[in-house]
Amino acid sequence: MMDEGIKVLICEDESSIRKFININLCINGFTVIEAESGEEALEMIRVHKPMIVVLDVMLPGIDGFEVCQRIRKSRSEIIIIMLTARGQDMDKIMGLGLGADDYMVKPFNPLELVARIKAILRRSNNPNLQSKDRVKFGVLEIDKKSQKFYKDSREIDLTPTEFSIINIFMNNPGKAFSRDELLNAIWGQDYFGDVKTVDVHIRRLREKIEDNPSSPSYIETVWGFGYRWQEESK
Ligand code: CA
Repeated sequence: MMDEGIKVLICEDESSIRKFININLCINGFTVIEAESGEEALEMIRVHKPMIVVLDVMLPGIDGFEVCQRIRKSRSEIIIIMLTARGQDMDKIMGLGLGADDYMVKPFNPLELVARIKAILRRSNNPNLQSKDRVKFGVLEIDKKSQKFYKDSREIDLTPTEFSIINIFMNNPGKAFSRDELLNAIWGQDYFGDVKTVDVHIRRLREKIEDNPSSPSYIETVWGFGYRWQEESK
């Protein structure tokens, strides 16, 4: 099984919520570790190297936003799912370079959390997304085996979600994808999220790869529809 033994860190100060998530992840075959604070989470990430972090925003000490940013400084490959309270600004959660892969609004169904984690994990093994190991496009290059992305031969750190998006684009130059198509291709048909999620990931990706993010030359906006990767390499 793809999720067998995959290590998940739950960072949440409320023990009842932590236990509740823990039980549901364990039933589904994940290995679960817990942290009660952001500081503890960062230490556990360093020691135990989980593949996935379920991270509450409201924590004593440093908050979930700060923890997310600190994780991303050194570990772009970790899957981060934020837990938020209703009313917290989605832009702050997904945007501003925080680098979370997904978020859930409390109260949530733990089965939905499990479904989302599985969807994120499935992306890298989705046969519909299979592509060549290395693809070059002008000065850009992706290497699927190592999950690395390069611009001018310099590696640019991408999150797992950003890598999946750019992998689809670079394997389909000139093809316009609707937001729904991208959402389904990357998060799976069982994803319950909002298509705005696609926009925030695209925005962040542009900031990382474009020479001028406000006038993008790789990822073009197809007005009222979605996005398209530039047809001609430069
Ligand atoms: Ca909390």
